[in-house]
Amino acid sequence: MQRRYHVHMSELLRARVAALLSVLWLCACSSAPLADRPAPVSDDAPTLLLVSLDGVRPDALGRGDTPTLDALARDGVQAWMRPSYPSLTFPNHYTLVTGLRPDRHGLIHNAMHDETLGEFRLSDREAVGNGEWYADGEPLWVTAERAGLATATLSWPGSEAAVRGVRPTRWFAFDYSRPIDVRVDTVLGWIDEPPATRPRLATLYFEHPDKAGHDYGPSSPEYREALRLVDRALARLVAGLHERGASDRVNLVVVSDHGMTDVPEGQVIAVESMASPDEARIVSTGQVIGLVPNPGYETRVAARLLGAHAHYDCWRREALPPRWHFGTHPRVPPIVCQMHPGWDAIPGEAIARRPARTRGSHGYDPDLPEMRAMFIAHGPAFRQGLTLDGFDNVDVYPLLTHLLGVTPADHDGDPDTLRPALRDTAP
Ligand code: AMP
Ligand code: ZN
Ligand code: ZN
Repeated sequence: MQRRYHVHMSELLRARVAALLSVLWLCACSSAPLADRPAPVSDDAPTLLLVSLDGVRPDALGRGDTPTLDALARDGVQAWMRPSYPSLTFPNHYTLVTGLRPDRHGLIHNAMHDETLGEFRLSDREAVGNGEWYADGEPLWVTAERAGLATATLSWPGSEAAVRGVRPTRWFAFDYSRPIDVRVDTVLGWIDEPPATRPRLATLYFEHPDKAGHDYGPSSPEYREALRLVDRALARLVAGLHERGASDRVNLVVVSDHGMTDVPEGQVIAVESMASPDEARIVSTGQVIGLVPNPGYETRVAARLLGAHAHYDCWRREALPPRWHFGTHPRVPPIVCQMHPGWDAIPGEAIARRPARTRGSHGYDPDLPEMRAMFIAHGPAFRQGLTLDGFDNVDVYPLLTHLLGVTPADHDGDPDTLRPALRDTAP
């Protein structure tokens, strides 16, 4: 449907419809008018535009599906990144904007339990919008707002909540049905604004590759089609910046949160085979399984689970591999089981509903090449044609604070990693 619509509409009509939709979507968002803010922005102050392509592996680039990303990489800086543990969406998006590992910022999984706050699920709008979940870290937009810089987010995980009492000046609740061109045009609209209201930090998020990757696996034509879709959106963005004469005042940092790997049909176990509901509460399923043994069952559950199994390994939280830097946050359950690549653990009743085909997952060991994330930086602040060694994604944060000229909050990153990416000054 969406596709036919694109094929049959003229370019002009499409642009008009997109502009109209942009206005409608803008009205639907929650925001404070940028004009009410202090405006320290000089005419040529650059905007940092942080773009996330959820679930894009660096080796998906350069294969004919991503001409725009390839050109940005060629004319800018590129590298692969090691995601933080666990290699899931919310933990890693929050790491990218705090420089903290999930064990420190507290978004330790997409599904969590907290003694005070209760349950966190991505489908629970109230939890996702509750700043208490995020308060162990200070996201970049909060630091920027506190420094008097306007920020606008569409829709970075964590940006729908007032964290430590501060929100982006403009923010949008995540809505997968918001058309992709509308997202781009909204950001271009921000860039079009006069210096007094133009955001100095803007974010843009695309979930499409992650969705196709889960449904069909990263080796599928559907995943490649999703890559082409987001690449076209980036082409619209780049062309829009060019038309506005804004290319030289926008620093573009395009990242992903983690990679993706194929899960062949049948490579799934029932999570209840690890522990029955009588024995333990299962806090998270999928690839990183968190278990809280019920009172009286601690020894039995530990004896059964701890150690190696055919498709997973389990540890007490204190004994997880040190390279994962994980296990001290109070939200980490007492026992954590890590699935082997290509295997999922989900509720037994959900197994029957799985389509009989290869699908895809992430959430596996961040050191696996298939879990790697992508990094591209392009714009006036960056060198051209530089490929850096792979690095931990905590190192992005000090680069971003440097670009904004704000003082970084306490973080786990190394400011030296991305120093060579910069044209002149150092982070
Ligand atoms: P996962 O694959 O479980 O790590 O989660 C990725 C999915 O989270 C994406 O495909 C989106 O559908 C969803 N998602 C992304 N951002 C948000 C958000 N701000 N609120 C709720 N869900 C989100
Ligand atoms: Zn993700
Ligand atoms: Zn995902």
